[in-house]
Amino acid sequence: MVLRTSPAAMTADKPVTLRVGDRTFTTIKSSLTGESDFFAALLSGRWDNALEDGSYFIDADPDMFQHILNYLRRGVFPLFYDEAKGFDYARYVSLLAEARYFQIRRLESWISNKGFLDAIQVIRTTQIHDDAPPVDVTSANTTVTYDVAWATRKVYICPRWILEHRGHREKCGRRCHNARNGANDHEEEIYPRFSVTKKVVTFQPSNCVAPEPEAVGDTDGLNPGLL
Ligand SMILES: [Zn+2]
Repeated sequence: MVLRTSPAAMTADKPVTLRVGDRTFTTIKSSLTGESDFFAALLSGRWDNALEDGSYFIDADPDMFQHILNYLRRGVFPLFYDEAKGFDYARYVSLLAEARYFQIRRLESWISNKGFLDAIQVIRTTQIHDDAPPVDVTSANTTVTYDVAWATRKVYICPRWILEHRGHREKCGRRCHNARNGANDHEEEIYPRFSVTKKVVTFQPSNCVAPEPEAVGDTDGLNPGLL
């Protein structure tokens, strides 16, 4: 690998210590500079901006910085989602500000384009039953809600209002039919049905992984045309 001889490559795996608020993070230079223009400039060696012990002070919230570092290390977008509360938009807004500060374009556009919405798929289906449905055993990602759904239907009415004949024209005899006198033989009635709504929440991990960066850090400082 000829590229390994480039000066940038030789220092790419050098440990870097960052002081963020009251916490200290240690990582390698290539993790930080791969996608962040902020760290590429900070660690370029052009400025003497390290503290006396060689670490760097970063003015950021350490809890939020942990997500930034996780992203820079592995390229996995953070998922701030809770099944009961849904997405944590406030946290994404904070992370967006950090992504802008550290100049991480892909993370910034993923949040601004609400890419996180594709990470969780929610499918809702509702079925209506005439009889009480059996209670389902479901997996942990499925919520089942049982409800009453009122419906209307036409029902046959007996002209003599004999309850037993209601809904059963065949039970009415001649005396019933003679009593009809042209009156309506149907009426609408409201009746309860059972509605079962299933909500299935599925995590789509592939939508949280950033595609491989096009540029390879090893070619820093080298003109690819000369290789
Ligand atoms: Zn009848």
